[in-house]
Amino acid sequence: MPSQAESAVANHYIAAVQPLPVGFALRRFAPELEAEYRDFSYRSYQQTRRVAICLLLVSFFAFFAFDLLLLYSVGANPITLPVMLVRLCALLIIMFGAYRVLTQPDIATGYRWIPIGLGCLSLGMLLVTLMYHQALEQMQLPYGLEGMMLIQIVIFVPIGYSYRNSLCLGIATLLCTCLALQLTTSVEPRIQYLASLTYLVVATIAAATAGYCQEHSMRVLFLTKRDLRTMADTDGLTQLYNRRSFDLLLQRALQEAQREQTRIALIMLDLDHFKAYNDCYGHPAGDLALQRIAGVLASHPRRDLDFAARLGGEEFALVLRNPDSAYLASTCESIRRKICEELAIEHLKNPAQVMTASLGASFSNASDTTASLYQRADLALYRAKASGRNRVEID
Ligand code: GH3
Ligand code: MG
Ligand code: MG
Repeated sequence: MPSQAESAVANHYIAAVQPLPVGFALRRFAPELEAEYRDFSYRSYQQTRRVAICLLLVSFFAFFAFDLLLLYSVGANPITLPVMLVRLCALLIIMFGAYRVLTQPDIATGYRWIPIGLGCLSLGMLLVTLMYHQALEQMQLPYGLEGMMLIQIVIFVPIGYSYRNSLCLGIATLLCTCLALQLTTSVEPRIQYLASLTYLVVATIAAATAGYCQEHSMRVLFLTKRDLRTMADTDGLTQLYNRRSFDLLLQRALQEAQREQTRIALIMLDLDHFKAYNDCYGHPAGDLALQRIAGVLASHPRRDLDFAARLGGEEFALVLRNPDSAYLASTCESIRRKICEELAIEHLKNPAQVMTASLGASFSNASDTTASLYQRADLALYRAKASGRNRVEID
């Protein structure tokens, strides 16, 4: 039976490809996954952010044009200049935020400047609305809340920002608008005033609902992509990296080592007389044995960038970054011993009477390619097999 520690490791590995959280109605995953999602979503919306910023700047000029048009049609009035000043202040802050967001692609900059930009936009529009509202009320001219409705839509436009934060800002904007209008409207609420508020509430609910659906789809897409990547990168039986990942990771590790003038070690492991084990105990038992061997490799103390993979059949590999000779020898020996002494899987067709493994290892050198390193480790493995199996050979 696998030990408790091995089971924990195996479970950890298996958990990585089990169906991911589906109950995310509250728009949050566990903290680690949530951070990964936010990063994914922020990167995915990069193009949309650029377009949204352009549209926002264009609409600012449209609003300036509206101010001038009103000045022209209603004649000189005391609010045009303050309104334009408020718009200008908001525009300057938003332009600075947009500049930061566009030039710094990291999520921390976005999460700092997007709320500042949206907050300014919302506050600026509220101030302008109140100013116009009061001035036009005195002139007995109608003035609606179209500007605030637009803001509510902008707040929920998906640009890779947190939906929860957008929701908080949307609700705060709605409440502030209602409160401010209540406090500043001198005449009895007229039907037009109530209709405007109703439209604003409906626009907020519609925008928030669209944002919620969009966020839901994005989270499903994120989980699906993550699942597909896991499936493409891992071996289905053991949940270790598969051959495809091994090739990529080995190449990267070797290039890094050569650049930094260090070395890596490639350990190859092949189970002894495994065909006979299958013939004797059946393939399902063989599969279970492979999973338990993978558990040993996965649980083996490793440094951060070391990795284990199943190359195919009953062959595994372990890559260690910058080990010294003693560390490599002790790692190989410890794996070999764990398999035959700790796992001690009965294998009566093996002279040792338990499942054993042969290991071959080699250090990389400055002129190695992955193929030459692989070939040396493989030759070492063949020597281990030829000299009696259940042993370690280091090139
Ligand atoms: P040696 O000691 O020389 O390595 O002999 P061996 O029998 O281990 O090597 P051989 O290459 O002759 O046999 C490997 C066996 O591994 C053959 C195949 O049935 C088995 N095998 C490969 N993939 C799987 C798998 O996914 N599950 C199971 N149960 N067996 C597998
Ligand atoms: Mg083999
Ligand atoms: Mg074998």
